[in-house]
Amino acid sequence: MSGFLMRGFMLGGDMETLPCPFCGSDDTVVIEILIGGEDNVVRCMLCNANGPITERKQAIDLWNAVTEVLDAVKAETGLGG
Ligand SMILES: [Zn+2]
Repeated sequence: MSGFLMRGFMLGGDMETLPCPFCGSDDTVVIEILIGGEDNVVRCMLCNANGPITERKQAIDLWNAVTEVLDAVKAETGLGG
């Protein structure tokens, strides 16, 4: 993670993001990446998983979509219970 100028901030109280699909932590932040424009990435502060880097709303939507897909897979396979 070098060469990136990042500005992170915690979303207070009312989180827009679902818990981390990989470790289940709800300690997630939306990080704004200021490089050649504005991109955003959702990151889990516990396991350092990153969502897609894109426009803010889409970054959050895609992060949430991953959580929902993995939850569905777990329910279907009986894993992760
Ligand atoms: Zn995580």
